[in-house]
Amino acid sequence: MIDLKEKVVLITGASRGIGAASALLFAEAGAKVIINYNTNLQKARTVAKRIEKIQDNCEVTVIKADVSDKASVSKMFAKIRDKFGRLDILVNNAGIWQMAPIISITDEELRATIETNFIGTVNCIREAANLMRENGTGVIVNVSSTAARRGEAFYSHYSSSKAALHGLTKSLAVELAPYNIRVNAIAPGWVNTDMSKKAIQEKGSKIREKIPLGRIAEPEDIAGPILFLCSDLARFVNGAILDVNGGSVLVD
Ligand code: NAP
Repeated sequence: MIDLKEKVVLITGASRGIGAASALLFAEAGAKVIINYNTNLQKARTVAKRIEKIQDNCEVTVIKADVSDKASVSKMFAKIRDKFGRLDILVNNAGIWQMAPIISITDEELRATIETNFIGTVNCIREAANLMRENGTGVIVNVSSTAARRGEAFYSHYSSSKAALHGLTKSLAVELAPYNIRVNAIAPGWVNTDMSKKAIQEKGSKIREKIPLGRIAEPEDIAGPILFLCSDLARFVNGAILDVNGGSVLVD
């Protein structure tokens, strides 16, 4: 039922984890996928190769850009404009999660998290909204976290960066609606990726105990709801924060 044929989709941070799983799913739905990465060219290429195997005529593009760097994001969008002349869907997925207790957090740690998770998202939306406005249509999904729902001790800067995405999502859902651009967010709980691997190894059973569905999500569990939000099935969903956590915030 979800057909994204001819749709151009940019997924930031798509070399690994949730972004990579989303890239594959969007490709299966027929989209022309743009894989953004920051440091892992090899992994980005591996995702692209997997996409090329889905269908012979699958169109996939790999672009390096540090989302926290405005100039780097501008260059990425210049390439998108040159190649496609449009962008239908933007998934702001790139993010970092690094522990930093408030009593010792450095300016660098604080800035890195806010600049990647929040400003990086703004950098991409600013460019995307202009392109989408020209084409009279667009969908944006911001990847947040349960940390924005209930806070996260020792990750206050991360939690704040994701809570900022909720304010951004709701504001832009109204601001960009006149241009037929929908803006939503998705708030995953624990997901089995590089980001959370170490924490899951150390306290996996404790984490599972607090998830009513009894397991930690795989990246594909998040990619599906992202695809839904970007599809026509969600054409009247705007300004929503979709919780995808197996019910954990209800009991944690
Ligand atoms: P991951 O496996 O660590 O992958 C992170 C991705 O973000 C990589 O593709 C990385 O690119 C990219 N990235 C990081 N900094 C970037 C930058 N400055 N510019 C461009 N790309 C950048 O993480 P994940 O678990 O899939 O997380 C994806 C999103 O879900 C994040 O926003 C995260 O906060 C959120 N989330 C994750 C969990 C979880 O438990 N894993 C839970 C809730 C929310 P390179 O590989 O090129 O470095």
